[in-house]
Amino acid sequence: MYDVLIVGAGPGGIFTAYELMEKNPKLKIAVFEMGHELKNRKCPIDGDKVKSCVHCKSCSIMSGFGGAGAFSDGKYNITNDFGGTLYEYIGKKAALELMEYVDKINLKYGGEGTKLYSTTGTSIKKTCMQNGLHLLDASVRHLGTDINYIVLEHLYDHLKDSVEFHFDCMVDRVEKLDDGYRIYCGEAIYEGSKCVISAGRSGSKWMEKVCKELEITTKSNRVDIGVRVELPAEIFSHLTDELYESKIVYRTSKYEDLVRTFCMNPKGAVVNENTNGIVTVNGHSYEDPAKQTNNTNFALLVAKHFSEPFKDSNGYGESIAKLSNMLGGGVIVQRFGDLVRGHRSTEKRIRESFTVPTLNAAAGDLSLVLPKRILDGIIEMIYALDKVAPGTANDDTLLYGVEVKFYNMEVEVDENLMTRHEGLYVIGDGSGITHSLSHASASGVHVARQIAM
Ligand SMILES: Cc1cc2nc3c(=O)[nH]c(=O)nc-3n(C[C@H](O)[C@H](O)[C@H](O)COP(=O)(O)OP(=O)(O)OC[C@H]3O[C@@H](n4cnc5c(N)ncnc54)[C@H](O)[C@@H]3O)c2cc1C
Repeated sequence: MYDVLIVGAGPGGIFTAYELMEKNPKLKIAVFEMGHELKNRKCPIDGDKVKSCVHCKSCSIMSGFGGAGAFSDGKYNITNDFGGTLYEYIGKKAALELMEYVDKINLKYGGEGTKLYSTTGTSIKKTCMQNGLHLLDASVRHLGTDINYIVLEHLYDHLKDSVEFHFDCMVDRVEKLDDGYRIYCGEAIYEGSKCVISAGRSGSKWMEKVCKELEITTKSNRVDIGVRVELPAEIFSHLTDELYESKIVYRTSKYEDLVRTFCMNPKGAVVNENTNGIVTVNGHSYEDPAKQTNNTNFALLVAKHFSEPFKDSNGYGESIAKLSNMLGGGVIVQRFGDLVRGHRSTEKRIRESFTVPTLNAAAGDLSLVLPKRILDGIIEMIYALDKVAPGTANDDTLLYGVEVKFYNMEVEVDENLMTRHEGLYVIGDGSGITHSLSHASASGVHVARQIAM
């Protein structure tokens, strides 16, 4: 019998455990994680013998200690403008305070010396506005994939003697008891007074099942679909040197859709991502100059919401990603010049491109994959960005597709992030409320403080 059962060892689960230990070290806490311990997380893709996803039973990129964020670029955004809607539940001031609190912990556990960038007072904001683009406000701590990993190592060392971790342990079912919760992991059964679920994106389908079984209301969410853009780092250097990551939003003139930049990686690399067996694209970068590349990459995404009669936003995104997997065996890459001229990119054209791709993807035609409305919006935004960063619309700018940001169904919770069942909390990306390291971590601290009170 435990005081608190935590499902998922991503940032949400880790910071729940961390804060519970800070507030009450006597609590008996167990964390159940379907992925591996941090040191055993290894994606078999080496770009040499294994070039594409081999669909491991547990995806080391998405699962294990550190969650989906373990090999991320570690961009820790302190803002209510994006990354989730935690502030709608706990208030803007409290949300920011919690993000700042987690930032301090990250610094204490290995992130010291990393740089905090800010949009405050930047002239880039004005240049963007003059060209129909809107720069969102944020402070961003760039930990980098390397330092992010070190922080996780140190946090694990700090927690492992006081918190019981069960790795490679998938929770199949959560059952409500009269005075607590019972969880089933294969043959094993564990019980606790309180249960915090932080299952992230990889646990989205499972989370839906849990909500159905426990009669917790959910509502459909959105899906973001687009491409990852890769270009020589010099083109964006005036933005990335000052802001590191700029979140820029553009309203298309044709459909009035919002297109936004997302996850900018100066001198970074484009990578594969596997969500429920579907290969999509993502990006990251290292703080260590020795590991940096000559390119910058970022996503351009268009948000799609569905309500009636079709509600399955994620299913829509999955179908588009499956189409790219069907045509390209995985991710497709195309030169911008080829796309606007209606040509498919060939391996030869990619080889001859002045922008050297950092991901080995199949040369192809994104117009056969992405819906016209989405593709038109992306092309329009590339031309808009070309005005603040000339060269963005060069023929050799590379577009990888598809990039999909899946969002979980939004789970009905109160201001304590507690469901209609006393003592059952749903936090992090699995709740549909957060979509980032900072918001997910902050939601964990918030819940831990409610429990430890
Ligand atoms: C490649 C990549 C790069 C990213 N870069 C950034 C970035 O730079 N900045 C940023 O803010 N965000 C980034 N993100 C997003 C960020 O990683 C997530 O928002 C964050 O990890 C969410 O934390 P979480 O704890 O809610 O969920 P997760 O990190 O997804 O953790 C959930 C954990 O629960 C486990 N789990 C799920 N179901 C079960 C079950 N039934 N039983 C047991 N365990 C289960 C999973 O294995 C997983 O480890 C990135 C994501 C990816 C994939």
